[in-house]
Amino acid sequence: MKPAIQNLQICIIGAGIGGLTTGLALVKQGFQNVWVYENAPALGFVGAGIQMAPNMARILKGLGVWDEIAADGIATDYYSIREGASGKIMGLVDCRNLETEYGTRQTGGHRATLVNSLYDACVRNGVQFSFSSTVDAVDFMGRPTFSVTNTGEEKSYQMQCDILIGADGVKSKTRQSLLKELNVEAGVKETGQAAYRIMLTREQMQHDPAILALLDGDQTIRWIGEKRHIVAYPISQRSIYNISTTQPDVNFAAAASATYTTKGSKKAMMDVYGDFCPLVLRMLDLAPDEEIVEWKLNVHDPLPTWVLGSFALVGDACHPTLPHLGQGAAQAVEDGAVLSIFLAALPDASHENINKALMAYQEARKQRAETLVALAAESSRELHLGAGKAREERDRAFAAIKTGTPGKVPDKVMDIDVHKMTYGFDCMQDAQDKIATVFI
Ligand SMILES: Cc1cc2nc3c(=O)[nH]c(=O)nc-3n(C[C@H](O)[C@H](O)[C@H](O)COP(=O)(O)OP(=O)(O)OC[C@H]3O[C@@H](n4cnc5c(N)ncnc54)[C@H](O)[C@@H]3O)c2cc1C
Repeated sequence: MKPAIQNLQICIIGAGIGGLTTGLALVKQGFQNVWVYENAPALGFVGAGIQMAPNMARILKGLGVWDEIAADGIATDYYSIREGASGKIMGLVDCRNLETEYGTRQTGGHRATLVNSLYDACVRNGVQFSFSSTVDAVDFMGRPTFSVTNTGEEKSYQMQCDILIGADGVKSKTRQSLLKELNVEAGVKETGQAAYRIMLTREQMQHDPAILALLDGDQTIRWIGEKRHIVAYPISQRSIYNISTTQPDVNFAAAASATYTTKGSKKAMMDVYGDFCPLVLRMLDLAPDEEIVEWKLNVHDPLPTWVLGSFALVGDACHPTLPHLGQGAAQAVEDGAVLSIFLAALPDASHENINKALMAYQEARKQRAETLVALAAESSRELHLGAGKAREERDRAFAAIKTGTPGKVPDKVMDIDVHKMTYGFDCMQDAQDKIATVFI
């Protein structure tokens, strides 16, 4: 890489999974002047589990961080879809062959392990961090300029860089600046869904053998009911059982605010799942009152563009999704990897070619990410069906799943064609294949 390219100043706003992966991928490509500005005083929200899909693992392997992340995680053997009310198994998918087909299985991990591994690797490889730094308005003309306010200080200061990446999540300020500049309305879209996220420790589960068996089992389990479901899997070497629910958003809708998380009420949670089977109720009841947190699940309509001049969006800032396909973070990771490949191929440091590289990134990524966002929404409609013909048909499809051969599955996260599209696509190879046509 030529020194003029190596020394391009690249600023990334947000140290979430998208921002950290982008930073790491860039320094691994040879960029030497990469900065991350993060609003929080330390790494952001890490208090939950995450399902890491094979397409995400492939990239993390390439970045040299997968082994330590996988060592702490649990690869899923079986995916079990159960009726919430009765606990009856509706379908069981054998996931072990995903390893042969796509390199890894779905792996349940702790977000803290993932984020800390990415952060440590960033620091080791020279990414610079500025925490407690909130970025506001962006000026996209020429070299991008943005204003930063450090926590505790009233005055903001201006920063300028050669390339600016907005990785600031679903509430992205940089996206808002972009849309304002383009005079485009594309506000946040309510999904009507909210989620409780709970982590039970082995100690909390140990007095109930049936509950403890979930932690020691080899399954990711999804209990489904009308308009609601619960997904759960072991993480952290089976010391923690991670539970994530989805239910109609009542609390946020009743008290609309700028925040997407709120202290939840255990009673409200138990009421929402009151008609689920005793095992599920006993499991939810183990969660300490003070640890119930509810998340609002918001998305927004596809944006007209992710790129303007030398600025690009990545991750939830440009394609926030319902979590039901387990691809939100995976797509943010793909963004970072692909962006770094096109930028590393720059023939010179001109604005014109930087913009060409960013446009190539958008071309390679936008349709794929938006297709998966739509698929996650479609999956949630199937999972949350009420009584009627459509549900009967869905349940017949679940019942037809043959153990050992994942086929058509109404829960898209386990559908064989969705696997081919999500896990079977190597976004890094695809980007490499496209480089030859980018800078002509
Ligand atoms: C309930 C739930 C379950 C999920 N499960 C999965 C799963 O199993 N698998 C999966 O792949 N995905 C999952 N996801 C999706 C995944 O969590 C997100 O897609 C992913 O974390 C997005 O990463 P990001 O870096 O783009 O955004 P974020 O993680 O939101 O990071 C944005 C960062 O930017 C910072 N920031 C924001 N504004 C500013 C500012 N103005 N200045 C400076 N910094 C700023 C924030 O503090 C934050 O650190 C789930 C999501 C939810 C809600």
